[in-house]
Amino acid sequence: MTALDHIPTAAVAAVDALRLRVAGPVFAPEDEGWDAARAAWNVAVDQRPAAVVVPRDAGDVAAAVRVAREHGLRVTAQVTGHNAGAYEALDDTVLLRMTELRDVEIDAAGRRARVGAGAERRDVVLPAAEHGLAALAGSSPQVSVVGYALGGGIGWLARRFGTAADSILALDVVTADGELRRVDADRDPDLF
Ligand SMILES: Cc1cc2nc3c(=O)[nH]c(=O)nc-3n(C[C@H](O)[C@H](O)[C@H](O)COP(=O)(O)OP(=O)(O)OC[C@H]3O[C@@H](n4cnc5c(N)ncnc54)[C@H](O)[C@@H]3O)c2cc1C
Repeated sequence: MTALDHIPTAAVAAVDALRLRVAGPVFAPEDEGWDAARAAWNVAVDQRPAAVVVPRDAGDVAAAVRVAREHGLRVTAQVTGHNAGAYEALDDTVLLRMTELRDVEIDAAGRRARVGAGAERRDVVLPAAEHGLAALAGSSPQVSVVGYALGGGIGWLARRFGTAADSILALDVVTADGELRRVDADRDPDLF
């Protein structure tokens, strides 16, 4: 069995298209760095996606979603892989590894933060503390802010300030049609 045997034919064509249309690195099973690219924090999970994309920005995410659609593949996002065990088989799935999107802006006066899709909790907690602010953090500094919040986000401050999910003001999301949307309580409230 070769590294390519479990990969659907559609995925081979998709990898060529991803390399043309995505600025960030694209990894296929035959590539150097493949095992590191596909590995989750939870090393008990041996995940073998069709390809791994490391987006440089939201435009890369949108491009990857469109390519996957065009080739009949699924897409999933992963930051650290703390929750990797929940995935099904990924043979027909492009894994978006969000680790490059770690930008964090702290608006101290507004007591809020704008957080990239790959930011880990420590990326927010440390700069917020410089302004005397605390973030709604969980127990691990290495869990991502987005993954934590999507699961609710229950931390030490939850009894007083609520869950992390309840504190989200707006999201920039790429939907399944490959469009980038800003959603909040007023704009597209159902999706928000
Ligand atoms: C050591 C440890 C300590 C923890 N402590 C706490 C705690 O105190 N409180 C608490 O509430 N939880 C805690 N958790 C649970 C943790 O919050 C979840 O496992 C969380 O889902 C991890 O997020 P991640 O992004 O790091 O992991 P990932 O496995 O990378 O992502 C988690 C999920 O979010 C999805 N996802 C991530 N990014 C995106 C995106 N941009 N768009 C769409 N979907 C996305 C992924 O597909 C996946 O389903 C802990 C987990 C561990 C392992």
